[in-house]
Formats: sequence, structure tokens, C-alpha cells
Amino acid sequence: MCDINRLENQARLLEPNETERSQLIDCVVSYANDYLNNIKNTPVYNHNNSKSSSIQDLPIRDEAININDAISLLRDCVDSVGINPTSGRFLGYIPGGGIFHSALGDYLAAVTNRYAGVFFASPGAVRIENSVIRWIANSIGFPEQSAGNLTSGGSIANLTAIVCARDACRFSIRELHRYAAYTTEQVHHSINKAFHVAGIGQSVLRKIPVDSCCRMDSHALSRQIASDKKAGLIPWLVVASAGTTNSGAVDPLNDIADIASANGLWFHVDGAYGGLFKLCPEAQSVLKGIERADSLVVDPHKTLFLPYGTGAVIVRDREHLFRSFSASADYMESILDDVDDINELSPADLSPELTRHFRGLRIWLPLKVLGTQPFRSALSEKIRLARYFYEKILKIEGFETGPYPDLSIVTFRYIPKSGSADKFNKRLVSSIQKNGRIFISSTRINANVVLRLAILCFRTHIAEVDEALEILTKTVKKLEASGN
Ligand SMILES: *Cc1c(COP(=O)(O)O)cnc(C)c1O
Repeated sequence: MCDINRLENQARLLEPNETERSQLIDCVVSYANDYLNNIKNTPVYNHNNSKSSSIQDLPIRDEAININDAISLLRDCVDSVGINPTSGRFLGYIPGGGIFHSALGDYLAAVTNRYAGVFFASPGAVRIENSVIRWIANSIGFPEQSAGNLTSGGSIANLTAIVCARDACRFSIRELHRYAAYTTEQVHHSINKAFHVAGIGQSVLRKIPVDSCCRMDSHALSRQIASDKKAGLIPWLVVASAGTTNSGAVDPLNDIADIASANGLWFHVDGAYGGLFKLCPEAQSVLKGIERADSLVVDPHKTLFLPYGTGAVIVRDREHLFRSFSASADYMESILDDVDDINELSPADLSPELTRHFRGLRIWLPLKVLGTQPFRSALSEKIRLARYFYEKILKIEGFETGPYPDLSIVTFRYIPKSGSADKFNKRLVSSIQKNGRIFISSTRINANVVLRLAILCFRTHIAEVDEALEILTKTVKKLEASGN
């Protein structure tokens, strides 16, 4: 008995009382406020990672430490080392989000811990998840019989879609080598990973050539499908990018949709970066045809400014998604009979996951409390900032640009007065990154080193873009003066 009482006393530490809760919250809120109040001036990158090792020097033990000590560790070892994706001056790769309202959604989801996997367990949580999916589907222009799932990110969303496409096309593993899918060199590597994980990595994945704007050449796609058919292959899938990670190029979705439908191919669109730009008028023409996809991936932790951990997959015909992922084989034949309300399918029947974070709340709360307009405006603003940067950098002597931006990524490079442009641009990007005031990244297009400026953080406004222009100009001058 004594033992149980002693254990109870220790176990009760897991349940702080209201006073203790307030103290804990005060510490956390005060740190978060400090963080947010200083974000305008904190470096966007700190390449010295030596401090982060203190985490390992202080391993987890039976003894507790004070919350303030834990927060200090966070401040010194985590939040001031490496890349800061919450900064408006972060213009590299694909910038991150982190809107405050989502943090509050996560807080409530963790405190109430509703079971969002199964309708029976939490009809309300599942309805929230499904209403977020419905909103995304409607925004894209998908029909009522579409369904989807909130995932941890774009990679798992792509995997979910590829598995669904594989099953819907009755892909025969025995004839693996005859199945041909089509995409471009610019496709995100999570598609290759998805093929591998889905067990079809040995099938044919054709990389269709791209045009001068890095978009899939749809005529080349038609020709390749025709010649593959002639050769006895089975064309089954085309994967288009609605905004490549590399340059932001959008494949000609409407033309590809025509070709897919004429040839009976599943049409998957990876819109992890670009798909949600469908929310703003500036992207309507470039994204035309996205609504014809059989499956679509979007990433709210990119293009809705959410903190990391939320992607989404939408499948045009919900029955396909259900058939691939519903848990019980008995359900397969009679999806419509077994589910009381077809609009409230359980996430567990539409994805590989069962128990999962109630991730719908971190999207639903900001969308409801702020309304959708600020999101639409922010997306319009990002596209217009990219166009603004494109026009401005063209006017600075020595710079040349890639194609006019389809969305919010601009590619460009500096041609030095003498010497190798590749070497110069590598030095330019590394010097800018080390300086830590802005962060841009580089890539290769047609074998050339090019710089890329990606505008997607909700904190990036015209002042940040002007500062990037100023730093680029200054750094080029400095490097040219030092005999580069
Ligand atoms: C980011 C990205 C992915 C992968 O998404 P994660 O959320 O990082 O898993 C897939 N495709 C494209 C085009 C992306 O930009």
C-alpha cells in the first residue's frame, strides 16, 4: 500500500495544478514573446553549430530540471543555430511558416487530445479534419466525391497518392517492368522515394524533357507514351509538378490532363509547393488544369504558412483512396453501406496511419479565426514580390535571370567581369549565407550554377525583398573588388 502511495505521489507530478500550470505557461509565453519580438533582427543563419552539442552533454536523466533551464537550452542550442525558417529574410529552398494561431491550435489539440483517427471516437475532430480537406478540395476545384487526408507533409502525401494510383490502376507486380510512368527530371525526389516504398521502384519511370522554362514538354510526353505502347509497355501514370522545388516551374497541367485522359493514365499533381496558390487570382492561369488531377498533393506547412507537420493529399474519387487504405477487407465491397455518412469518412480509412496528431485543428483554427482572406492576400503578395524582385534584379548590372516566375521563386545569377560564373555565384551565395542577414540558396539549371530566391514566408514583405536586393548588390561589389 505504502509503495502505491509513494508511486502515486511521483506519478501525480504528471498533473500540475492550476498555479503550477500558470507558472509553466508564463515561462513558455515569455520565451515565445521574446522570440517573436526579436525576430526582425535575429540572424537567419548561424553556421556555427558547436553550441547545439550541449544537448548531448546534458542527457535525459531521472532527475528533473527547471523549465527555465530547459528553455535556456532551447534558446542556446536549438533556436540560435542553423537555419531560421521563421524569419522573413529566409528566402532559401522552400521557406517555412509558423503562424501563431496554429501554435494555439496545437496547444489545444495536445491538451484535449481528441482521437482524430476514427469518426466514432471523435466525430467532431474528424469533422474538423474533413472540413479542412473539403475546403482545400473546393478551393482547387475538385468534385464532391473527392476525399483526402491530412498528412505529416508532402512526402507522405505523395506516397499515399502513388499507392492509391498503383492500386486503382491494378498494377500487376508480376509485370512490373512493363509499367511506365512519366515525369520530368525536375520532379521532387519524394516521388522516387514513393515508388521505392510502394514496391514499384523497378518499374519504368520516364523523365520527359523540359522546355526552356523547366516545364514538361507535353509533345514529348505524347510521343513517349505512343512509342512505349508500341513497344508493349503499359503506360499508367503521369506525375506533373505544380511548382517545382527547384525553380518554381509549373508543368502545362491542362495539356498533360488531356494526354492522360486520352491515354487512360492516372494524373497525379505534386503541388506541395505551388498547389495552394490556387487560392489567389495571380496563379489561376498558370495552374489551369490542376482541378483535373486524379490525385493532388499540397503542403499547408509551406503554402498556408503553417508550422512544419502538415501536408495533404486529395483523391478525385474517394473510393480509390478508401480501397487502398481502409483497415478491414470486409469494408471493401460496400464502402457506402458501412459508413453512416459518406462525408465523414475516418482518416484511419484513408491513410496508412491509425492513431495520429489532431492536425486538423492547427489549420482549422487560423482559417476560422482569421478568415481565408489574409491567406489569399499573403499568397498574392508573395507572387507579386517575386515579380518585383525579377524586374529589379534584371536592372542591376551584371545580373541575368531565368524565366519569368510562374509562382514565387526567381532564378538568377551574376556574370562576373572575368572568370567562371559558376565559381563566382557559389562564392556569392556562400558569402551571403555566412553573413546571416538574408538567406538565399543555389541550384543547377542546364548544368549552370544559378541562385534562387524563394518567397513564401508570411513575414517576407517588400522591405525584406529590398534588403535582399541591397545585400546582393553590395556583396557582388565586394567580391568583384577583391579580384573575386
Ligand atoms: C517540399 C516538397 C515535397 C516534399 O514535401 P515535405 O513536406 O518536405 O515532405 C514534395 N514535392 C514538392 C514539389 C515539394 O516542394
